[in-house]
Amino acid sequence: MNRREVIKSTMLVTGGVLSSSLVSFTPFKESNQQQCYAPLRLDIGDLETYIINDGVVRLPSIQPIFAPDVDKEKLTTELKRLHISENKFEGSLNVLLIKNEGKLILLDTGAGGKFGENAGNLIGGLKSIDIEASDITDIIITHGHIDHIGGILDQQDNFVFPSAQYHLAEKEYEFWMSEQDSSTNDQGVLLAQKVFSKIEDKLHLFQYGTVLFSCLKTELAEGHTKGHTIFNIFSGEKSVKHIVDTFHSPFLVSKPEWGTAWDTDFDQAVKTRLRIIKEGTDNGTLFLSCHLPWPSLGYIDKINGESQWTIIPYVDPTRITV
Ligand SMILES: [Zn+2]
Repeated sequence: MNRREVIKSTMLVTGGVLSSSLVSFTPFKESNQQQCYAPLRLDIGDLETYIINDGVVRLPSIQPIFAPDVDKEKLTTELKRLHISENKFEGSLNVLLIKNEGKLILLDTGAGGKFGENAGNLIGGLKSIDIEASDITDIIITHGHIDHIGGILDQQDNFVFPSAQYHLAEKEYEFWMSEQDSSTNDQGVLLAQKVFSKIEDKLHLFQYGTVLFSCLKTELAEGHTKGHTIFNIFSGEKSVKHIVDTFHSPFLVSKPEWGTAWDTDFDQAVKTRLRIIKEGTDNGTLFLSCHLPWPSLGYIDKINGESQWTIIPYVDPTRITV
């Protein structure tokens, strides 16, 4: 058994969040607002977007899902330095809504009812800004993990967003659908295959480099999954780079090589993180992410030779303009 097989079996035995929450589906909760941040409007030039908090991704410990090969003492020292709890993992779970050219576009759908009480607040968040699920015209899927596609179907496998068309990188679609082992009991694979089959008539596959809706340039950031897609969101001279699941915690910005078992290709994901870090420190890029601490918007700085996540300073709790 190699390292990642050990991690996979450990996840199944200990009930890592991805496996356990899939096994025990809980009723879809329409709103659980008290656990969530209110939607935060993010204006990128003339583009109106909202960061909507779907909930939280939780694990009872950092290892073995994160930094699986790292010495415990070394890990503790780094976590302390970054003021991160060493006894649990907590990641934000955010969805981006974009209003453009009469379209209401979601980047992913959160976990839906599949993370129990921890998530599934997207619908409530949308309602709080006067948007119904049926108003959503388009959904862009960044990759096929449960916390990104879990909100597409409800408990009865009906469409939560009945009017939406779906957009997905062809490479990511093929990555999940080419799983030939019909006896697979990998709940993540089964969910992705079910969802992608169900949306087939409404699905538009794209190639990397494609610009969607005149404001989103698509880019491959391989490693987390085979076709993990990130986006440069732009309007005029202004832009924000949405790096999705390239980093799950600030310690992966300072220690990109420590990695996570949630990456399909551990070593490729490290390379991708290093590439994004270089881009950030070279260009001062403003990044948005799905799981970094709320609002998951910030910069990657080089401090004393080490890269570090710096959350954007903001004062108005309802709106950021870049
Ligand atoms: Zn994720």
